[in-house]
Amino acid sequence: MKKLFLLILLIAVACQTAPLTSATNRDLLQTSWDDRSVFRDGLSASYQSILDQLPGASVYHIEYRIADDLYHVNGFEEVHYTNREILPLNEVQFHLFPNILGGAITVSNLLVNGKPATPKYELLDSLMRVPLSLPLEPDQSIVIHMDFEVTVPRTVENNYGVLAFTDGVLALAHAYPLIAVYDTKGWEAEIPSPQGDLVYSDASFYIVRIAAPKNLVIAATGRKIQQETMGHEQIAAFALGPARDFYLAASPDYRIKTRTVGGVTINSFAPAPDQDGAQIALDVASRSISDYGQLYAPYPYTQLNIVSTPTLALGIEYPGQIAVAERIYAPNSSQQGTPNSVYMESTVAHEAAHQWFYNLVGNDQLDEPWLDEALAQFATLEYYTTEYGIQAADGFRQSLEARWSRVNDARIALDQPVAAFRGQEYGAIVYGRGPLFFDTLQHQMGQQAFNRFLKDYVASNAWKIATTDGLKAAAEKDCSCDLTPIFNEWVYPN
Ligand SMILES: [Zn+2]
Repeated sequence: MKKLFLLILLIAVACQTAPLTSATNRDLLQTSWDDRSVFRDGLSASYQSILDQLPGASVYHIEYRIADDLYHVNGFEEVHYTNREILPLNEVQFHLFPNILGGAITVSNLLVNGKPATPKYELLDSLMRVPLSLPLEPDQSIVIHMDFEVTVPRTVENNYGVLAFTDGVLALAHAYPLIAVYDTKGWEAEIPSPQGDLVYSDASFYIVRIAAPKNLVIAATGRKIQQETMGHEQIAAFALGPARDFYLAASPDYRIKTRTVGGVTINSFAPAPDQDGAQIALDVASRSISDYGQLYAPYPYTQLNIVSTPTLALGIEYPGQIAVAERIYAPNSSQQGTPNSVYMESTVAHEAAHQWFYNLVGNDQLDEPWLDEALAQFATLEYYTTEYGIQAADGFRQSLEARWSRVNDARIALDQPVAAFRGQEYGAIVYGRGPLFFDTLQHQMGQQAFNRFLKDYVASNAWKIATTDGLKAAAEKDCSCDLTPIFNEWVYPN
């Protein structure tokens, strides 16, 4: 026993002093592509069977090396991609979002199954097309390798601060090459409208290793599977999936408040002066995931993080993580006459709802943004109703009506691409009229049928891409009725 203990001790000491080389990093990312066991503990029990499904879902192995200045990041990505279409593919397309977020990403050493490939760049270098020397037949797989370097902007002006290093906080969103969706229209790639979300992606698996300065507190999507310190550096690794993106925020100033609710560990990250706000965020997130768990489906993961960042948006959703604007953390201050505590509650409840509507049930966030945004707003109304009663929830309902009134209650169709809405229409229609549509639908269908419908919609579209027609069909099935008139009135463009 003693010898074994000594041996373990020696190995531990050796690990701590081993130099951080690229070779050792890569060794730790050598998990077999079809071994999904590493993702099991990150999923709540009722979701673990999904690991035996989703054949051919992409698997990303990523390494980020965060420089001491905290705004230069380099690394590599190896992705196992399977053609899940019914026709051969001649290329694979990747989004390079930092190039349209005020920062930059460059790719080098591109290899397809170990052979060098020369990519083509389009859409202001935000799209990388990787040609395949032989067509990839349906169900065939390839491994694409690339090195990359990212420069993170030091301002939040260009992109709401989704990708930014400011105020000592690194927000690292969409910082790796992300495979575009291939759907009925082919490869889905465009420059997203600045008022909407960027990511339309298939549910995938991620193992991400991060080398960073030792003092950095990292809030990353996924379950931590490794944490080591080597000299002035740390190595942390995370396993996440199924999920539609990988995100991290990091700061030397973060403190963490933690609570476990129904088997889910909720972590609230914020600098020391913002701990009161971090506590409210923790409380609201706990209640939200418990309420939505009852209304729609259990929360998929064993962890949810909330992080304070300098984003100009109030909040932004990522799989298993919510970014909240640091400016609303002081509970006794206000924004335009509304107390921060009110903003904090509605923001966290809204972003928590995206865990169901965006991540679990995916949708084309560029072409059918109402499917996740209007449902996240409606879920927030249900959160207030569940927590405080119908009368008390009226305040939030009035805020939805006030949003719609910004365009004079115009009957503008909900189901339109982000880019089709002009001026104030996007916020007023998708975030105001949209949730009021679901409220009206609830009255028409009856409470029981409506509740059944949202449960069925989530269950039948889990980890897939939902559509407006699919949502209508699910509702009609549960009410045994024709909902064409109400969809024509509210949803479909004339
Ligand atoms: Zn939203």
